[in-house]
Amino acid sequence: MKNILLGKTNIKVSRVGMGVLPIGPNQRALEIDEGAAVIRYALEQGINFLDTAQYYKTYPYIRTALKNTGLEPVICSKSLYGDYSSMDNAIEEARRNLDRDVIDIFLLHEVRTGQFEERQGAWECLNDAKAKGKIRAMGVSTHNIDVTEKMAGVCECDVVFPLINYAGLGIRNRFAPGTPEDMINAIGKCHKAGKGIFSMKAFGGGNLTGTYQKALDYVFSKPEIDSVMIGFGSLKDIDDCMSYVNGDMPKDYNPDISLKRMRIEQSDCEGCGSCIKACQSEAVFYNERGLAEIREDRCLTCGYCAAACPVRAVIMY
Ligand code: SF4
Ligand code: SF4
Repeated sequence: MKNILLGKTNIKVSRVGMGVLPIGPNQRALEIDEGAAVIRYALEQGINFLDTAQYYKTYPYIRTALKNTGLEPVICSKSLYGDYSSMDNAIEEARRNLDRDVIDIFLLHEVRTGQFEERQGAWECLNDAKAKGKIRAMGVSTHNIDVTEKMAGVCECDVVFPLINYAGLGIRNRFAPGTPEDMINAIGKCHKAGKGIFSMKAFGGGNLTGTYQKALDYVFSKPEIDSVMIGFGSLKDIDDCMSYVNGDMPKDYNPDISLKRMRIEQSDCEGCGSCIKACQSEAVFYNERGLAEIREDRCLTCGYCAAACPVRAVIMY
């Protein structure tokens, strides 16, 4: 697969990256060896770019997948924390648990409107970690157009990991829904400013998988996007993507999407509301019993609600 330079970072990544979230405990909860086999299979297909995060709890899968292989894919991780010392701990945790001295890319995870300013402690920590050689590049992941646009003017920002799909699912503009056109404009400004761009949620968290080729045609047609990060939970997910990338996918093929759903187990839910706060898509609501429920038509299956639930009542099935 063709590799491409990520902006001005000197880091070369494959056009397709593997999002590791789906194999981990917040989604499919595969056994470590089983998940590691999915990662190894992706690497064998020429994918050299892995996306993880502190809260995904997927470092053991990556470490196991790479053990004794001599392979050194580009690894991106990120943390939701905003202060200096918590970010420092997050970087050390990644270095330790991934068994790597240097993490290629480290990000402020899911920056919402106004949060870049609030998380300056963590940003300063990323800057220091880069100066010390603990990370090679720094940036943000975001669902927000306004945040993406802002990054074009932030000189320390090397890479941006924005949410984009043809239907605009999950795109935010400040505190309201945003359009794909406005997000592409914001991404274009970052690209022009020399930032490396890798995109997330081409399938809107599974909701666009029914229009698989249309969803991938959209992101791969954008010259502003260097690499497309796709969440893989199985070997079949990877086979589908490779078939698309290699141009041998039948034009009428679309994968079976009937299996992927989020659900809140009512017998476990305690009605604390953490999942409602964690969901940026406003897909969770209180039902008449005061328990949380998910509106499937708004859910991106991102798993944020599952991570926020203290009793693990949110499940993907
Ligand atoms: S309900 Fe949960 S999985 Fe669905 S979009 Fe909201 S946070 Fe993500
Ligand atoms: S976070 Fe868990 S326990 Fe709390 S309301 Fe949501 S599903 Fe229920």
